[in-house]
Amino acid sequence: MAILVTGGAGYIGSHTVLYLKDQGEEVVVLDSLEKGHLDAVQNTTFYQGFIHDEPLLDQIFTNHQIESVIHFAASSLVGESVEKPLEYYQNNVLGTFSLVKKMVEHGVKNIVFSSTAATYGEPDNTPIVESMMTNPTNPYGETKLAIEKLLKWCEPAYGLKSVCLRYFNAAGADPKGTIGEDHQPESHLIPIVLQVALGQREHVSIFGDDYDTEDGSCIRDYIHVMDLASAHYLSLKKLKESNKSNIYNLGIGNGFSVKEVIDVCRQVTGHEIPAQIAPRRAGDPAVLIASPERAKKELNWKPEYTHLREIVTHAWNWHVAHPNGYSK
Ligand code: UDP
Repeated sequence: MAILVTGGAGYIGSHTVLYLKDQGEEVVVLDSLEKGHLDAVQNTTFYQGFIHDEPLLDQIFTNHQIESVIHFAASSLVGESVEKPLEYYQNNVLGTFSLVKKMVEHGVKNIVFSSTAATYGEPDNTPIVESMMTNPTNPYGETKLAIEKLLKWCEPAYGLKSVCLRYFNAAGADPKGTIGEDHQPESHLIPIVLQVALGQREHVSIFGDDYDTEDGSCIRDYIHVMDLASAHYLSLKKLKESNKSNIYNLGIGNGFSVKEVIDVCRQVTGHEIPAQIAPRRAGDPAVLIASPERAKKELNWKPEYTHLREIVTHAWNWHVAHPNGYSK
């Protein structure tokens, strides 16, 4: 039996594929390669295409004995989603509609869905627990929440079991250095800071230093991408063993400010890394820290890389070895 990984050539998807293969799982990847990289999924059964492509999904579900789906494929830039909400609803909500419809038709009963802390919006309390109110502040978060709800209603109707994983800030790279993070354009803090260290940017902008935090910059919970990967594997195991749908936060439970992240990057890289204060970025909550207790207890998930220094070191090693990302 195989696992279909949609968006498996993307950043978190490809690390999850690597982890699953290390566990001896048979994996089939579907990715449009609009953002993903073929080099990130070498030696893996691969289909290039969109999750909206129902004939292609029929072909995949017919050609392979797919027992479960891990669904990453999505548009995932907060700022872009505010400018192009129709595109986000089309790609994320309608795309998932086709995928789930085909799963139901082909009798595939398990799905692990890549959700986000953006479903919470601006939380009243920290750390965030799963029972807190969801109130997204952007279309990206709204589309992810809409999909969580679609999956919830598919369980009683069709027996489709789901685990929704609400990621906090994914960071780092495969510790062995085979794959890493390469977004075009790059918008995430840690790779941007490392590009400054590599001399590819002159400085990093700190988006706001007047937040209600100790040093005035935003605080986030950075989680190693391989720890995210292991949580997907454990979620599938849990679905198969207990047949119980659920939602889990995935973060470390510790927050670091933008300024602290830049300092850790300076220590790891030995570079000065100039930083400039810039205006706040629209839609950024001041503090987002997970309570990962439910995932630890129910999935038996034990994050391995809990120090930001380690996360940044793995990211840096990949960036130094691949200064232009996957492009040759
Ligand atoms: N950030 C920043 N400068 C940058 C990129 C990001 O100050 O060039 C801040 C951003 O405002 C947020 C934090 O770094 O507070 C993490 O941003 P990122 O885009 O990596 O992830 P997000 O929290 O948006 O998912």
